[in-house]
Amino acid sequence: MTALRIANPVLETGSRADLLALQERRLLAQVLRAATRIPFYRGRWPEAAGRLASLDAFRDTIPFTSKADFLGDDATASADRFARPGSRPYALHLTSGTTGLGQEVHALTRYDQEASASTWVYQARWAGLEPGDAVFYTFPVGLQTGGLWSSHASDRMASLGFHMGPYSTDKKVEYMLRFRPHGLIASPAYLTQLQANFHDRGLRPREALPSLKALFIAGESYTIDWPTRAAEYWGATISEWYGSMQGGLNQCFSCERGVVPGGRRGTLHCMEHRILCEVLDPETGRPVEPGDEGEMVITSLYREGFPVIRFRTGDRVRWLGATCPCGRPFGSIEAGTIARYDDMMKIRGQNLWPEAVDRIVFADGDIEEYAGTVSVDERGRETVALAIEWQPERAPSIEGEAGRVAALAGAIREKLNIRMDVTVAPYRSLPRFEFKVRRWTDTRRRDRTFVRYVKE
Ligand SMILES: [Zn+2]
Repeated sequence: MTALRIANPVLETGSRADLLALQERRLLAQVLRAATRIPFYRGRWPEAAGRLASLDAFRDTIPFTSKADFLGDDATASADRFARPGSRPYALHLTSGTTGLGQEVHALTRYDQEASASTWVYQARWAGLEPGDAVFYTFPVGLQTGGLWSSHASDRMASLGFHMGPYSTDKKVEYMLRFRPHGLIASPAYLTQLQANFHDRGLRPREALPSLKALFIAGESYTIDWPTRAAEYWGATISEWYGSMQGGLNQCFSCERGVVPGGRRGTLHCMEHRILCEVLDPETGRPVEPGDEGEMVITSLYREGFPVIRFRTGDRVRWLGATCPCGRPFGSIEAGTIARYDDMMKIRGQNLWPEAVDRIVFADGDIEEYAGTVSVDERGRETVALAIEWQPERAPSIEGEAGRVAALAGAIREKLNIRMDVTVAPYRSLPRFEFKVRRWTDTRRRDRTFVRYVKE
């Protein structure tokens, strides 16, 4: 195994008990600040919130917050919600609004921005980046999503940041070939677009980009064999992060062991000195046992602008506890399996998770992309249409295609107990994604809009 690359010796080689004690101290101080200074919380919390003595008391006393609580008058985002009244907002972050509920506004102070940027140093260091390395960001940096943090992060890391968001895929690849990145930040889905571009040029990234050390990914779950194939193709290690806009930072990272050590799913270490990550049973609200899935509920331990407290992210994660063989004391979640509870669709009484379909579709290594549509037909029956695209030069012959399509439909029906009409779409006719992947359109939920960053 690679030697450990430690970013903070005190924390990373310390005990779990010390880390949890630090976390609890910070939590209680943060709750006290919020209870006394933030009108948003004062109006919602019981009076006992101002004198909590433990994490257990916190769990028993402090109610959850959700997206709906943060919507409303934008002006209150920088007035009602500041933990340091009078301090100035330095940046505003907006949610993408893909759930159809509207966009939340979250203000950050200069200190908040510094804290989120310096947190990324853990991931960068664990993935093998050094100060001065060139980091390419492929997704657009705007008011939404993680681009903003990452760009400050490379600044904090004293690395050379290349902001490729405004450029076409073709141009991005051209700049990569010219400036030779050490780190590349992209969603797994967008990597397939980059791969197609390298393929068209007759180039292999592992030879054309010899300095590339790490691919930084987030934003979607993936099949267990994907990281091995991607690492081999790019000649770089795969480093995953999980973050949430409301938390104000990227909060869980894979370590030197990678995302599939020994062919099994690895861990993402939670930055528990800066955020409380509760993984709770969505029904009971109680913490799940290691190995079980639950909803990620976050509490910022440092934020000035607007510390979210017990925010229900709607993200489904598998809690693993502090079990990574690297020995770091942080609690962890499973790499590669993060999903959104609101992405779950109910079709003819069956629960359907998009990544369950991903697993089956992408098990066929010749399929590059797919899109699913759920509709109700004129007789009121729920139907599911699935369009697939073959990879260039990997499409079966005309005679072979029908058999392959039928085999895929059969595998879906057998494993998911849902019938889908599978068809083949022309190459590059389906939407591609740069950051948040939305392969599914549910026409039964027309209020929900889908953001597609890339139309090629
Ligand atoms: Zn580890």
